[in-house]
Amino acid sequence: MSASGEQAADCLFCGIVSGSVPSQTVDSDERTVAFMDINPATRGHALVVPRAHSRDLTDIAPEDLEATILAAQRLANRMREVLSPAGFNILNSTGEAAWQTVFHFHLHVVPRYPDDPLKLPWIPGSGEEAEIAAVAVRLRGRRG
Ligand code: AMP
Ligand code: ZN
Repeated sequence: MSASGEQAADCLFCGIVSGSVPSQTVDSDERTVAFMDINPATRGHALVVPRAHSRDLTDIAPEDLEATILAAQRLANRMREVLSPAGFNILNSTGEAAWQTVFHFHLHVVPRYPDDPLKLPWIPGSGEEAEIAAVAVRLRGRRG
């Protein structure tokens, strides 16, 4: 696929990439566009997308994934200068069950502040050692 990539009809973020849907774009390069999230979780919350349409983490081309995470790093460093956050979360949701609502791959870049309202979305607790090991065996497959 070329760096400019293919667009999907009826995809909101393809519309933002092409300019047919308005956005507050903050950065772009040959493969990526970054724009402000319209429902920010914290001050400065932005999204980075590949120009080429892909649905999620499982089908994005490796070159686009690389370009998108590098653009997220660039944006985080820019936010660090401008917004002075205390940290960042980089979030990707792949699949409806994982909260994905827009099916064009994107990374959320969420600047974090000591007094922000975000909470860890799981309750940390010790797992079953045997079950963890059994899943690890399956994941290693023949490469293990
Ligand atoms: P996700 O739920 O991970 O698929 O993230 C989709 C994100 O896109 C949400 O945080 C929405 O607030 C954001 N969003 C939806 N429509 C727009 C839009 N037109 N411009 C900017 N962000 C949007
Ligand atoms: Zn798209």
